[in-house]
Amino acid sequence: MWSVLSERWRARREAAALERRAVPDALWRRTLKRFPFLPQGEAEGEPELRRLTSLFLDAKEFTGAHGLVVSDDMAVAIAAQACLPVLAMGLAPYDGFVGIVVHPGQARVRRSVSDDIGVVHEYDDILSGEAVQGGPVMLSWRDVRSAGPKAALGYNVVIHEFAHVLDMADGVPDGIPTLPRGIDRGTWIETFGSEYAAFCERVDADQHTTLDPYGAEGVDEFFAVASEAFFVSPPALATEHPAVYDLLRRYYRQDPATRLAGRGPE
Ligand SMILES: [Zn+2]
Repeated sequence: MWSVLSERWRARREAAALERRAVPDALWRRTLKRFPFLPQGEAEGEPELRRLTSLFLDAKEFTGAHGLVVSDDMAVAIAAQACLPVLAMGLAPYDGFVGIVVHPGQARVRRSVSDDIGVVHEYDDILSGEAVQGGPVMLSWRDVRSAGPKAALGYNVVIHEFAHVLDMADGVPDGIPTLPRGIDRGTWIETFGSEYAAFCERVDADQHTTLDPYGAEGVDEFFAVASEAFFVSPPALATEHPAVYDLLRRYYRQDPATRLAGRGPE
C-alpha cells in the first residue's frame, strides 16, 4: 500500500515539475539547432531528453558568477547537454549535488600543492569547468556556448563535467562510474587501463589523437574526454578506441554513432 501511495506521490510531483519547468517549443527548437548532436525526433529519444531537461531545471539551482545573469536559453543549453549522458538512466546519478555555477568565461583558481619535501607551491589553474564531490558544478558559458562548432573536435565541456559527476557518484574519481550488472568491473578496469596507457604514450610522443590530450592527466580525465567524444564525435572515438566506444555504449545504453549516421545528409 505504502509503495503504491509513494509511487503515486512521486508521479504527481514529477507531473507538477514538468508543468512548472516546461521548455517552450521555440526555445527547445533553438537548443536542438545550436547543439545538433542532441537527439532529434522521437526515434532518437528527443521527447525523453526534453522531459529530463525540465526535471533537471526543476531540481538544480543555477547561479551566475561575476554578474552573469543566467537566461532561460543558457539554463536549457546546459540542462539539455547535461541530460544527454543520462538519457537512458534517468537523473538519479545527479542527485548528489544541486548547484551549477556559470562563469562568463574560463575561471582562474588558485591551487597549492606540497611537494615531497613539504614545500608548498602555489599556482593558477585556468578552468572551463569543474565538478567536485557534492557539487557545485562550475561551467564557463563561453565554452558551453561553443559546443556546436567544437563538436567536430570531440570537445564538450558540459558532458565532460557531468561524466566526472557520474564517475564520482560512488565517492571515488577513478574513471569507474557505477556500472550496470551487465558490465564486468574487471573488464572495464583492464580495457580503460590499457587504452589509457597507450593513449598517454601517443600524447607523450606528440602524436595526433582524436581525444583531447588533456585525457592523459589521469584515467578519470580519460573517461571524461572519451565520454565527450562518444556523444559529440562518435565515429572518431569508435575508430580510434573501439573497445572504449563499446564499453561506453553499454554503460550509457546509447549508440550515438548509429544515431548520427541514421540521419543522412541535411
Ligand atoms: Zn576533467
